[in-house]
Amino acid sequence: MVIAVDFDGTIVTHEYPRIGREIPFAIDTLKRIQKDFQAILVLWTVREGKELTEAIEYCRERGLEFYAANANYPEETEKDNQPRKLKADLFIDDRNLGGLPDWGVIYQMIASGDYFKPAPTEIKSEYPPKKKGFMQSLLGG
Ligand SMILES: [Mg+2]
Repeated sequence: MVIAVDFDGTIVTHEYPRIGREIPFAIDTLKRIQKDFQAILVLWTVREGKELTEAIEYCRERGLEFYAANANYPEETEKDNQPRKLKADLFIDDRNLGGLPDWGVIYQMIASGDYFKPAPTEIKSEYPPKKKGFMQSLLGG
């Protein structure tokens, strides 16, 4: 499985061209996805040149290596590098319709195989509860 991963706004907060703060669990989750599912991770970003190198280095220093960056495979040349579309099975990007789920949710979605099922929405508990509890009825609350 090939997964294309965006950088700004996805792995780190969007502060391009500077490198933002890591989005909680992004790098650890990506390392687990690589290890647990033998996924091929491709960095897919608007960054080029120095800014791209900085992003790759940022991840490398934290133990995350990509198979390729802005290319389908490591040896892809400038001339080849005009893909109509990256050949990825999945894209993880903060510009996804619906936004970027939490990294824990991303892991669960990949683990379950339900890649294209919308992320579970937050279940909001009702507070205060509509029904009176037993003790509350007794005390006349
Ligand atoms: Mg982005």
